Amino acid sequence: MSSSGRWPLRVITRTLRRYLVGAEQRWVFERPPPDWTPPHIARTSLYLHVPFCRHSCPYCPYTKVPYRASLMEPYTRAALAEVDWWARAAGPAELTSIYIGGGTPTLALDAVGRVLTRVREKFRLTGDICIETNPADVDDETVQRLHDMGVELVSLGVESFRPENLAVLGRDYEPHIAERALALLAGSSFASVNADIMFALPRQTAADVTADLARAAQLGADQLTTYPLFTFPYTTVGRYLQLTAVRMPNLHMRQAHYRAISGWCTEHGYARVSVWGFKRGTVPRYSSVTRDGYIGIGPGAGSHLPDGFVLNTFDLNSWIHTVCDGRRAIALRMPFAGEMSGWWWLYWRFYDTHIPLDDLDTALGSDAHKARQWLRAAEQAGFAVHAGRHLELTESGAFWLHLAQNYFALNYVNTLWTQARREPWPHAVAI
Ligand code: SF4
Repeated sequence: MSSSGRWPLRVITRTLRRYLVGAEQRWVFERPPPDWTPPHIARTSLYLHVPFCRHSCPYCPYTKVPYRASLMEPYTRAALAEVDWWARAAGPAELTSIYIGGGTPTLALDAVGRVLTRVREKFRLTGDICIETNPADVDDETVQRLHDMGVELVSLGVESFRPENLAVLGRDYEPHIAERALALLAGSSFASVNADIMFALPRQTAADVTADLARAAQLGADQLTTYPLFTFPYTTVGRYLQLTAVRMPNLHMRQAHYRAISGWCTEHGYARVSVWGFKRGTVPRYSSVTRDGYIGIGPGAGSHLPDGFVLNTFDLNSWIHTVCDGRRAIALRMPFAGEMSGWWWLYWRFYDTHIPLDDLDTALGSDAHKARQWLRAAEQAGFAVHAGRHLELTESGAFWLHLAQNYFALNYVNTLWTQARREPWPHAVAI
């Protein structure tokens, strides 16, 4: 979308967020004061970012650097130091989950194993460990190592089983590599195996997408996460990263694919668990983003603290030197005001497509009545229906939320990430 096409959206989101959250919430990430420390945290989750890739996919905006074996030891030492820093600063919290993403975590399993050992020493882990895996790295040895580390939930970045789609995405392996990897993971004893499948790719049809879903199901994936080609290439971070090799999917195509995915999943016993995700049976849910709080380890990792968001420096060398010096690597912070934390909670319940009405007062306090008005409006518009003490998004509600998320939320991420990539320690970023 052009910048001239974005300004009406900016005006709408600014008006909306001011009305919902209140004027006291400043939507600015700033460098935290030198004496700032995080609040004590009793219970949270942990995210470990592994920023290495063998090659750069043309659509990918994530923080990553080309893999080099010589970077593994400095990265590991820095990640261990950052785990220690958080344990000192926020206390030995209970961790209700660990999520390991990237980049490509399976390129750095020695580092991941050492960090997990340190995390278990410094925190109280009571939940599952989830990890992203790359088809090119999955073999018997990898599977065994993941089990040895105590990983319970794995996700495989399949994206597509069609060679022409893998070529568009810059994946340098044949479909049989992803098929073999998925069969291996699903045939092992993980609590759940998720397959990522992309839709709205150039020249892809709805039938192509459902064929990919069917193949993933046949190979044993009990969760399916579907997502469209990122719109980052059309934003400033895309221009900054020169992500020019892919084209924006059109709305009609996205909607047709989204409907085909929902229909296929319903017919084949996969229930919707989020705007993007579906799962079969009673397996634990694989999810990276809907946690209510987390601390982030690694360059570019964000943390959702009880009193605000913080973001580490994106620059690998700056991150390594800072945390190895025993200092915090946090470059930017946006404190919460009013009921911002509750609105963020509600945003993710929408993302879950399942809103527990009895929790509104606890989560949103004095803004609960305003939230109820919005939920009633969503119901009247046909975007949600009552299901006992919950509100469930309808198919059209889920589709329009996925679109709104693309245009609004990713726009914030885009602004923040563009600035955070330009300089290791920005002064302030207004979103
Ligand atoms: S999509 Fe994954 S493998 Fe590709 S560059 Fe991004 S993080 Fe690396």
